[in-house]
Amino acid sequence: MDEYNKHNDLETSISFFKNEVRNFVESRNWSSYHTPKNLVQAINCEAGELSQLLLFKDYKLEEIVNNEELLTNISEEIADVFIYLISLINALDLDLSQIFIEKMEKNKIKYSSKEFNNGIYYKK
Ligand SMILES: [Mg+2]
Repeated sequence: MDEYNKHNDLETSISFFKNEVRNFVESRNWSSYHTPKNLVQAINCEAGELSQLLLFKDYKLEEIVNNEELLTNISEEIADVFIYLISLINALDLDLSQIFIEKMEKNKIKYSSKEFNNGIYYKK
């Protein structure tokens, strides 16, 4: 296994993803195509491909994780969504850690654990 393939969630930084996607795009001269509009639409297209894998199926979680081909296909579409999302973050020069923290703080207030501790997923 070479250095490139040694990455895992515990040891890989967000800047690694941002640099990988930026280098991939720039080395192909695709920056002009990676406009916010195009990237949002590409995210939706890839999310649609992900959704299609489960369309009209009622898999239980165990059925998905034990189906190697399906899990591979789902993983690849997740990666496609993530890659375009990272490219959008790059195009808009956003700091993912900062926007994540800010939004999670809002979510913690909007969906307080005190109010949502009984399995209900929506506000009454
Ligand atoms: Mg795809």
